[in-house]
Amino acid sequence: MALYDIDAKRIESQLSNNRYFQRFIYLDETYSTQVYLKNLAKETFGAIALAETQSNGRGRQGRSWQSVKGKNLTFSILLHPNIKPTEAQLISLTAGMAMKKTLTEICRTEFHLKWPNDILCGGKKICGIITEAASTADRILYAVTGIGLNVNMERSEIPKELSDIATSLAIEAGKKYSREDVLLKFICNFSEYIALFNSCDTAAIIDSYRKQCDTIGRTVRVICDDKTLYGRACGITDEGAIIIKTDQGTMTFAAADIVHLRMHDTAE
Ligand code: ATP
Repeated sequence: MALYDIDAKRIESQLSNNRYFQRFIYLDETYSTQVYLKNLAKETFGAIALAETQSNGRGRQGRSWQSVKGKNLTFSILLHPNIKPTEAQLISLTAGMAMKKTLTEICRTEFHLKWPNDILCGGKKICGIITEAASTADRILYAVTGIGLNVNMERSEIPKELSDIATSLAIEAGKKYSREDVLLKFICNFSEYIALFNSCDTAAIIDSYRKQCDTIGRTVRVICDDKTLYGRACGITDEGAIIIKTDQGTMTFAAADIVHLRMHDTAE
């Protein structure tokens, strides 16, 4: 039975020709779609789990992801990619590029990719992405990528603490979107990038990301291990880490919180 505007049977039938995803799981409520798919990782390949409500939806570093039932998209994707553990970050970067492409195709507004994989619109976050991987010393066993996209959430539905930092497609475009169409478009765009993983063309992924990442060239604040520093983002390594030029020299961060600054913000 279709709950809200998601018809799981229609999505599954649309996926029947997709090389990477055959299984679509639609949940009214779950603890976390990340945990749900991790539990299936040994027996299932190429699955997507979407939940209307997560009691423990999380972003990076255990931060909570908040959503509104029936309005947004909160889902996870299970993959068994043929890449090295050091390249796990590339899955998140890829999902970010595929989502930016999807949003740009359906909405005229400009979207920005903030390293590593937040998507911003007018400086506010519209999509968050997290990837968790299990690996041996030399290969990834599986990766689960979680995506929270604010689709039809209205301004009045944004939790108070996020009102200055979050937005949705509906707020930006002034109209509602079919969540099913957005999801199917994203899966199609993401699948094109997965083909590059499978042909081991990770250089093409990184080249494409370098061109699209809006953080490059910006003055930024970096928060890493309780230390804060300022600098200019000047590049991305082959593994997807960010390179920052600071007064103390050039530094590379595989994981950090980045804030895009206007020039005068650096004087804080
Ligand atoms: P940053 O925004 O600095 O990159 P992060 O990488 O930790 O933070 P995520 O892991 O993608 O971000 O998501 C968690 C954070 O996103 C939360 O700490 C909260 O600030 C914010 N957040 C939670 N729910 C939403 C939402 N629906 N829309 C936009 N932002 C949200």
